[in-house]
Amino acid sequence: MEFRRLGRSGLTVSEISYGNWLTHGSQVEEEQAAACVRAALDAGITTFDTADVYANTAAESVLGRALAGQRRESLEILTKVFWPTGPKGPNDQGLGRKHIIESANASLKRLRTDYVDVYQAHRFDRTVPLEETMLAFAELVRQGKALYIGVSEWTAEQITRGAALARELRVPFISNQPQYSMLWRVIEPQVIPASEREGLGQIVFSPIAQGVLTGKYLPGQPVPDGSRATDESGKNFVGRWLRDDILERVQQLKPLAAEAGLSLAQLAVAWVLQNENVSSAIIGASRPEQVTENVKASGVVLEKSLLDKIDAVLDDIVVT
Ligand code: NDP
Repeated sequence: MEFRRLGRSGLTVSEISYGNWLTHGSQVEEEQAAACVRAALDAGITTFDTADVYANTAAESVLGRALAGQRRESLEILTKVFWPTGPKGPNDQGLGRKHIIESANASLKRLRTDYVDVYQAHRFDRTVPLEETMLAFAELVRQGKALYIGVSEWTAEQITRGAALARELRVPFISNQPQYSMLWRVIEPQVIPASEREGLGQIVFSPIAQGVLTGKYLPGQPVPDGSRATDESGKNFVGRWLRDDILERVQQLKPLAAEAGLSLAQLAVAWVLQNENVSSAIIGASRPEQVTENVKASGVVLEKSLLDKIDAVLDDIVVT
């Protein structure tokens, strides 16, 4: 496993991280979840991403149990706040001070740790003054409950405003967590330049487009048994990619991956890591073998000629 600095901060993360959205506490039984975490640790992954809202808090609890007994200093644990996780009272969501502080304390208990390495705003909250949000984050940092602050899917303008306030409040605001893959390149024109200016690194999610960039979903064919597309909640998310025009192009990437000596999943993970502003790619897995396969993308350098061929195949279907 190779490691990278998270933006311009002093925090080092494994360039492939493990995340447990839709799997822990939901699609995957606890024993299998623990096996995936073990496979991640065995492969040298040190960075683990979750959120209070995943499986309505159960994902944090499962991860906390799976990591119990590990040396805390050898791990980077990331979680997030924004959406409600229980009763939807007036203060049970968003980035107001009350919800942030209460959610952080509850996440720490579930994760069985005194601090998280990066506490992330899962989305931007237009209904709360940004000063209030940043002040609440600053307080968590001062209390040692969060070492650093990050955000997820913020726009370039939101990142720039957040960074200005963070400087004023002396809060280490170091990362953004956006969707990024060969099929979804929305962050390239604005979010990445703004992040570079402000010293943020990207921790990107769904690098293999939720399994689609493994090539296992075939055009015109039923979805494979046991895949996310057969899971009650997962199918709503992966479903957007299951169009024959997309799946046909994905099949055309398979020989390109083979030429590079990689599986298509490995090519997809390696592809996001070619961007220098990407500090880590968060992979999900429903079985340990997927982790073992996908982590082999760490350290792979892709030739410019291969990148050009990928662009040519995906040309009019990639979302930019
Ligand atoms: P991926 O794109 O890595 O998709 C993971 C899924 O693809 C697996 O659960 C598995 O699903 C399938 N898969 C993975 N590897 C293989 C393989 N080698 N062969 C066949 N199938 C494979 O990422 P996710 O979409 O799971 O997201 C990763 C993490 O990113 C999340 O856990 C979370 O931490 C974070 N995230 C953050 C968001 C945010 O808003 N900040 C939003 C979404 C994710 P299956 O076997 O069931 O088909």
